[in-house]
Amino acid sequence: MTNIPLQQLKSEYSNCTKCKELCNFRSQTIFGSGDLNASVLLIGEAPGKTEDEQGIPFCGASGKILQELLESINLTREEVFITNTILCRPPKNRNPKKDEIQNCNDRLFKTIQAINPKVIVTIGNFASKTILKKEAKPGITKIRGQVFQLQIEDQKYQVVPVVHPANLLYNGRNPVILEQMKKDFQVVIETTESND
Ligand code: SF4
Repeated sequence: MTNIPLQQLKSEYSNCTKCKELCNFRSQTIFGSGDLNASVLLIGEAPGKTEDEQGIPFCGASGKILQELLESINLTREEVFITNTILCRPPKNRNPKKDEIQNCNDRLFKTIQAINPKVIVTIGNFASKTILKKEAKPGITKIRGQVFQLQIEDQKYQVVPVVHPANLLYNGRNPVILEQMKKDFQVVIETTESND
């Protein structure tokens, strides 16, 4: 796998047609946003309706919670890079299919290599399973807030899985869950600082 510049990768995927159903449904591919040299790379699941309209990942209700979690560790959206497991919105916000995740996998791993972050944060089950494979099998609630390793070619990355912000919305912004999520983000910043 070659390490190619992020802008080149973005342009290659802007008109991608690998997933027939997705490219007929989407308004645009949502490549990602933030600092191209970020220490922290966040990977979510897939764009939703608001993201599809605005072209920015995590810009809806989940994005507001993500911002709050980042602020709890003194980071802004502009200081991290945010992308998704797949770049195109699935119809009716259904889960990404296996072949769609597979189709977008090469782009995801090239994005990791291009940014070369100190820590990768996988948000929710889909991103965690895509990056950590068997290690994520127990499910996000069992592995959240732990530090795992990902090796791509000769480079090792630290990976911290966290619960998806949508989970907090489904649970009526339960303050206990929010505190747990903030603790997991504390692991993210501690792991980043330990790699300085
Ligand atoms: S999800 Fe990824 S691989 Fe599939 S069409 Fe969109 S950009 Fe291409």
